[in-house]
Parts: sequence; structure tokens; C-alpha cells
Amino acid sequence: MKASQFFISTLKEAPADAEVVSHKLMMRAGMIKRLGAGIYNYMPMGLRVIRKVEAIIREEMNRAGAVELLMPIVQPAELWQETGRFDKMGPELLRVKDRHERDFIIQPTSEEVITDIARQELRSYKQLPKNFYHIQTKFRDERRPRFGIMRGREFTMKDAYSFDRDKEAAGRSYEAMYGAYCKIFDRLGLEYRAVAADTGAIGGDRSHEFQVIAETGEDAIVYCPDSDFAANIELAEAVALIATRGAATQALAKTPTPGKATCADVAQLLKLDLTQTVKSLVLATDELDERGDIKKTTVWLLLVRGDHELNEVKAGKLEGLKGGFRFATVAEIDEHFGCKPGYLGPIATKKPVKVVADRTVANMADFVCGANEADFHYTGANWGRDLPEPDLIADIRNVVAGDPSPDGKGLLAIQRGIEVGHVFYLGTKYSAAMGANFLDEGGKPQPMEMGCYGIGVTRILGAAIEQNHDARGIVWPDAIAPFTVVVCPIGMDRSEEVKAAATQLHEELQALGVDVLLDDRGERPGAMFADWELVGVPHRVVISDRGLKEGQVEYQGRREAEASKLALADVVGHLK
Ligand code: ATP
Ligand code: MG
Ligand code: MG
Ligand code: MG
Repeated sequence: MKASQFFISTLKEAPADAEVVSHKLMMRAGMIKRLGAGIYNYMPMGLRVIRKVEAIIREEMNRAGAVELLMPIVQPAELWQETGRFDKMGPELLRVKDRHERDFIIQPTSEEVITDIARQELRSYKQLPKNFYHIQTKFRDERRPRFGIMRGREFTMKDAYSFDRDKEAAGRSYEAMYGAYCKIFDRLGLEYRAVAADTGAIGGDRSHEFQVIAETGEDAIVYCPDSDFAANIELAEAVALIATRGAATQALAKTPTPGKATCADVAQLLKLDLTQTVKSLVLATDELDERGDIKKTTVWLLLVRGDHELNEVKAGKLEGLKGGFRFATVAEIDEHFGCKPGYLGPIATKKPVKVVADRTVANMADFVCGANEADFHYTGANWGRDLPEPDLIADIRNVVAGDPSPDGKGLLAIQRGIEVGHVFYLGTKYSAAMGANFLDEGGKPQPMEMGCYGIGVTRILGAAIEQNHDARGIVWPDAIAPFTVVVCPIGMDRSEEVKAAATQLHEELQALGVDVLLDDRGERPGAMFADWELVGVPHRVVISDRGLKEGQVEYQGRREAEASKLALADVVGHLK
């Protein structure tokens, strides 16, 4: 490729709205161009990186036995109504209407469509297991799009979906994807960690996130350097008790339709930053007698992630609560938790809490509940149900680095990460809702066991840059650099020798399949070098008259401090 034919557009300054280094550098290197909030053009330089990331993902997915297909971006609402997600999902789901006023959605993910395919196509146990994947545009109307393409609204995701005959087989599919993800992130040259994760709104009870380690990551990870223990603190921290000393009760009184409050309503009333603060709410339901007096009050601890709506939880799990719900008063909470009346300080309690949750919490015990006032925490709260097999995900709400790891094998450390991949065991949540059954050996219909597996293709670019950059620009890992080698001739328009040597080297490398760019733009050396250091090309070869006189060129590795001399005759061997 010749630079004069390609499209290069670098900037000296990053736009003011770019907060993190990857966003700044991608903008400056001309890899992406903003079109609207969280919506970007992938410019030629950036697209080359995306294609390389996709190629690695595709290879490893195929190797792991997954089959590629392509599902539509615009999907009929009917399928999403079958699983209830059309109504349940909050404003992150973009809903549109066609000319006939029919409802559609722009896919944020594709469980419904793939399950629809599976129920039509996978009819017999003989066709299982199957794993389908696609690499496709997603749209999520994120509350706070930011960091360039790391949290875009439109982005590219690889999502895969496995179908199995039973739990055991589904476990094998999960393991295969977990293994493929390790290979993918190894090949991408990223420093990452697989961590136990919350199963969020999708449901299911087994889940790992692949987190790229970076200071600017939005997630916090707790891990033990001496063992395999690692978890997303979001999971560990799942419970924060919003016990607002009466403010909550007042707030609820002001809620437009009691029992229909969304998290957003609540947050507005309580002036809370949803994503940061609200992890759960303590609410109460009152059973009234014939005279309308309260017969019995039940305190409910609702686990609500900041980005989930309260009515989603309500629709999922609160149908039983006919009278709606209200915030528990401080006195009720105190009584329920067995605290000193009116006192919300750190108190250990063994009294079970009734849990209403849209996710699995069974493996959490003895946690500390957060409060929205400093030092107002409950500690030692317990879930009021039998804990199945003890899990390592214990109470780490309050951990600080240096605390003992729950597995007893060392001390905990905390670091920040960027979620680049996620593997989920879904169980039969979607297959049961949509009637995706297969016939077993006895001819009996059984719901398929499912798993889903996502990778944030475009987010990987940002994550890679967060980990690989210096003062001059991006330092791409070789595997995903837009070009592997750049040949920089100095004075190509003046010197026939330089032109001939540069052209020949370019052609030879190209013939060997090396991704090489010849910078024939005629830029001054300083400007040319600055461009390629900013763009992050791993290998640079400078050809000048002076060097050629001695039969030499200058080689500079992007990660190396010093340039070195190479004999012209050795360059190809060195770079191929
Ligand atoms: P996050 O916690 O960052 O919002 P998520 O858990 O909602 O991500 P998943 O539903 O697990 O995301 O989707 C699979 C992958 O898609 C994620 O691991 C992430 O890499 C990527 N992804 C999710 N949301 C975005 C986004 N807004 N922009 C870019 N990539 C995203
Ligand atoms: Mg999200
Ligand atoms: Mg997440
Ligand atoms: Mg996720």
C-alpha cells in the first residue's frame, strides 16, 4: 500500500471532549471520526485494526467449532415480546417503527433471533451441540456514551450462542468458549484477566468477564495474586443498602405512581447518581386487613443495578406484590436487621433478608451493605435461603487491598479493568420462553440449554491503546497494527537511488505478505516520523541517500528507544 493512495488524516490536538488517552489518540491518529454522541465513523486507518481483530476472533471461533452466520440489525419486535424483553428492557433498547407503524428494535444483542432460528432448525438431539456466532453492529442507547468507541452507542460485537441437550454438555460449550477467549486475547497481545461476574439482566448463573487491565477501566476487579480467585467487584458489591433515614419514605410518597417507580424516578427524587450509587433498594410491602390497617409488613431487598430499571425487576419478580411497594422506613429496616432502633451504624446481624433479585445472589453471604452516608453500613447481612455449593464469591464489598482472599490462599489486590468479553451460561431462560425444544432419544421434547458469549470488537481497540501507548502515540501490538511496517524514504523525489530502494523493499515485503506501507507522500522526515509514531506502526525503515552509500538503512522498532542500522540486504529477512 502506498500512503499517497491510502487515506491518512492526523491531528496535532485531540478534541476537548476526549477524556481518556485511547480516545484522544484514536481521534488524533484519524482512526475514528465522531458523527454524534457515541456514534463514530470507522475511518480507513481504524477499520484496518478492526478487521485484524475480527480476523483473529473469527479464526479462534471457527477453531473452537462455532459456525458463523449473520443476523439482522433491525429485528421485529414480536420476537422480543415473546421473551418480554421488548417491555422489560429500559431505554438502552432502541425501538423504531416502520411505515406501517409496526414495532422493530435495533439489536443490542441477539438472543431472541438466534433462539428463533434454533427452534426452527435444531429439532433433534443429533443436531446438538451447535454454536452460532456473528460479528455485527449493535446499538445500545447508553446512558453515558463516552471514551470514544469504548462505550459507544453503535459498536461492533462478536456474539455467539450455544445450544446443548443438557447442562453437562452446556458446561462443555462454556469451557470451549472460555478457552477460545483466552486464545483470542493472548493473540491480541493484551494483558487481561478472566473474572467471575454478575449475570445481570440476561440471567443464568455462570458468567465470566474478560477484563483488560487498565487504570482507566470502568470496572474494578478483586483478585488474589497467589491463586485463581478473581471477581468483578460489581458482583461483590452487588448490594448497597439505600437506607436514607426517612428521605426514602418521603421520596416514595412523591413518586408519581407508587409501585411503578423506575430507578430513574427514584434517583431523581433522592438526587442519586444512578450508575454510581444505586445498587439496591430496601422496600417494604404492607398487607392490609379489611379495615385498611397494616396487618403485616415485609421488607424486601431489591437488587437493582444502576442500569436496570426498577420496573424490570418488578415485572420479573414482583408480580406477587399486589399492593405495590414502598421504601422501608428506617425503623422497619432496623427492626428487620435487628439493629438498635434508629441507628444505621455498622452492626452485625444474622437475621435473614428476603431477597428479590433479578440475578443470582445465592453465593453471597455475610456481606456489608453500603449506605448513602459515610459509615452507615450494615454488616453481616445474610441471604434468607440455603446457600448451594459454597462459592468463592463471598463478601468483598468492603475489601481493601491486603485483605485475605476468600479462598484462603493469599491476600487480595484490586485493579481496574475494561470488560472486553463476557461468557454466560444462560440455561433454558430463552429456549423455554420461546419454545426452542429438541427431541431427545426417547422422542420427548426438551428445552435447549443455552450459553451466550460476547466480545466487544471495537472496544478492544480502545482497550489495547490504554495498555499500549507512550508520549508520542499508539504502540500497537503487532497482531492488530493497521500496518506492520512503514517504509519511509527521505528525499524520494530528489534521489533515484532512494526511490528505487524504497520501492523495491516495499514490493518484496508485500510479496511476502507483510502488511507494509510505503510513505511516498513527500513529507519532511520530522512530520513523517511523528505521523507513524502517533499511528503506532510497530516497525519503521528509513531509507536515505546517506545510509544507502554504506548499503544501510535505519530500523526503528516502535517499542525500542534507539534506532539501529541494518544492511539493506538484511531488511527483508529481519522483518518477514
Ligand atoms: P458494560 O458492562 O461495559 O456495559 P455489558 O456487560 O453491558 O458491558 P455485554 O452485554 O456483556 O456488555 O456485551 C458483550 C461485550 O460487548 C462486552 O463485554 C463489551 O466488550 C462490549 N460492549 C458492551 N457495551 C458496549 C458499548 N456500549 N460500546 C462498546 N462495546 C460494548
Ligand atoms: Mg452495558
Ligand atoms: Mg458489564
Ligand atoms: Mg457484560
